[in-house]
Amino acid sequence: MAIDGLEYEFGGPIGALGVTLGTPFVTYALYFTCNEGGCPNPALLSDPIGHFKTEVWPGWSGLFSSKVTAYYAAYWFGLVALQYILPGKTVLGTVLKDGTRLKYKLNGFESFMLVLSYCGAMTYMEGFDWWLWAFIWDNFLQLITGTLLFAIAMSVYCYTSSFFTGEPLATNTGNILYDWFIGRPLNPRIHNLDLKSFCELRPGMIMWPILNFAFLAHQYNTHGYVSDSMLLVNVFQFWYVFDALYNEPAVLTTMDITTDGFGFMLAFGDLCWVPLTYCLQARYLASHPVDLGYLGLAGVLAVQGAGYYIFRNANSTKNSFRTNPKDPKVKDIKYIETKSGSKLMVSGWWGVSRHINYLGDWIMAWAWCLPTGFGTPITYFYVAYFAVLLLHRERRDEAKCKAKYGEDWKRYTEIVKYRIIPGIY
Ligand code: NDP
Repeated sequence: MAIDGLEYEFGGPIGALGVTLGTPFVTYALYFTCNEGGCPNPALLSDPIGHFKTEVWPGWSGLFSSKVTAYYAAYWFGLVALQYILPGKTVLGTVLKDGTRLKYKLNGFESFMLVLSYCGAMTYMEGFDWWLWAFIWDNFLQLITGTLLFAIAMSVYCYTSSFFTGEPLATNTGNILYDWFIGRPLNPRIHNLDLKSFCELRPGMIMWPILNFAFLAHQYNTHGYVSDSMLLVNVFQFWYVFDALYNEPAVLTTMDITTDGFGFMLAFGDLCWVPLTYCLQARYLASHPVDLGYLGLAGVLAVQGAGYYIFRNANSTKNSFRTNPKDPKVKDIKYIETKSGSKLMVSGWWGVSRHINYLGDWIMAWAWCLPTGFGTPITYFYVAYFAVLLLHRERRDEAKCKAKYGEDWKRYTEIVKYRIIPGIY
């Protein structure tokens, strides 16, 4: 049992072991199966083991590079330095169990802008031949290992230190593997660096559009042009990151920050999984350009527009409703009062389904994959994986809300009947 009376999640220790081994495996597998040689390479299909051994496998030493890991460490600690140096507003987090609220210095957006300005200035001066773009392309595999090592180091540190700091815990089942995976401490901090919120939005999220741009440069350098599909993927995903960092305070009310501990699951997700698997579409297009044409462009733009409209409006409505209920945008929203003191919206986007924001996010996932065309199912990995993540996340959130709101939640689900897709699910 976890604290708060919640049962084991993610299938308990066995599930934790499976995800711990499985997610790095998938990250590497996506690289080995979808690369310049094909996606998948036909030779890999006809003679998987032989081809893998002779052509694909770089040897154990090829998986790791101390230089790449050192560069990644410099980037990571550089972002930590920016957190301290750059100005940023101080915001209070949600109320903790002991009634206190943590302070967060938010300047992720400023850090993002500075990193982008540097990369933009260097590309302006040196063009697509700037060393970083080729370095990323050539060392993608070693970058996976570097970020994985960081995630392991950070989760071991957070798990171990939580026994000595006396900090609030999110999970404490006593099972070492499970607690390390799910995250024992709720808000681990070193000095006043909040590790969880830092990792959530900075090293991985900022690296993701940089990787995408390296793939755009590679496409230009090898094919002599940048395809419309590559442009779209870069713009859409850049926009997603821009939006997340621009709305940085909103992260403080998400489940990751308010409820989940910081362990391997989040550390790996934030540092390795998000940037290095979410860039798959751009990495594919770098060596397999797709030309969409005006009709294709219009279709993909329409899907993206619809998804973003739902996603942004739903998330902003909740954020305004919870942080500033007098905001004119939410003043007419209908809600029910609960015994816990919190109000639950029952009209507007949150009256359509209980997680309409997930539907918007998932529609956007399609817009990110469709530009890769229909030559391979592998580039649609994100759509499939994200559906599983959101379905599972919705169940977890539902369980949390049921435990928190009791009868009031039952009343709420009688008014707002659908979980994610109105009329269907
Ligand atoms: P939500 O933003 O959906 O927040 C859920 C919480 O909102 C509930 O626990 C409850 O918290 C509160 N709530 C629920 N119903 C209502 C209501 N009717 N009125 C007011 N408050 C309500 O959760 P997430 O953190 O899961 O998602 C945030 C966004 O991040 C989503 O758009 C999601 O798609 C996205 N996301 C993206 C991921 C990615 O990898 N790209 C991964 C995960 C999420 P309370 O206890 O305060 O009432």
